[in-house]
Amino acid sequence: KNIVVAIDGYSSCGKSTLAKALAKKLHFIYVDSGAMYRAVTLYFLRNNVDINNTDEVAEALKNIHLNFHSRDYQTHITLNDEEVSDEIRLMPVSTMVSPVSAIREVRKEMVAQQQRMGKSKNIVMDGRDIGTTVFPNAQVKLFMTADPKVRAERRYKELQSTNPDVTLEEIFENIAHRDYSDTTRKESPLMRAADAIILDNTNITPEEQLAFALAKVEP
Ligand code: C5P
Repeated sequence: KNIVVAIDGYSSCGKSTLAKALAKKLHFIYVDSGAMYRAVTLYFLRNNVDINNTDEVAEALKNIHLNFHSRDYQTHITLNDEEVSDEIRLMPVSTMVSPVSAIREVRKEMVAQQQRMGKSKNIVMDGRDIGTTVFPNAQVKLFMTADPKVRAERRYKELQSTNPDVTLEEIFENIAHRDYSDTTRKESPLMRAADAIILDNTNITPEEQLAFALAKVEP
């Protein structure tokens, strides 16, 4: 049976850094589920999809084709064959992604696609509902958390090259906002699965996190 490692947690708390490192070490496929919600959001923004109109949302979802090509354990995602990996990290998408990902029809479609990806392959998937909804039977579940100030500073540094105009305050606000809407939404809110192991990385290095996670996968 194939192995699924589910990594959930708050925004910008190092999920993707750990997930990528883990996938690389184990030769598993890495899937960034957040990138899928971001790409859907980009499509909605570009096409002025009214998120309160169920028919428009359903029609848009039919026209969205997402693909990962993850040859180097980075997230490369295409939206209808266009490479959108950088654009989905910009502020317009970051501010709209939580309302879009709260829509039931959007989640239903994304979860189905994610489940197909983990059906027969060894994967590491990070997100908000991977251990609770997408793969409730995942062999290993981690729930990551860190001090919100530390998270904002890390994300700020990371965005400097691609998004130099953004301020630390804007990032802090955006993280706080997304945490709030992700944990309070009706459809699969962000929460720790009962059997997920908590990993608070406020004060530990990426290497230490990797060692911790590896020990859970290969005890
Ligand atoms: O992981 P990332 O921060 O890029 O995800 C962006 C947004 O997508 C999250 O704030 C959340 O609203 C949504 N998301 C989700 N479920 C997932 C992954 C992401 O609702 N599994």
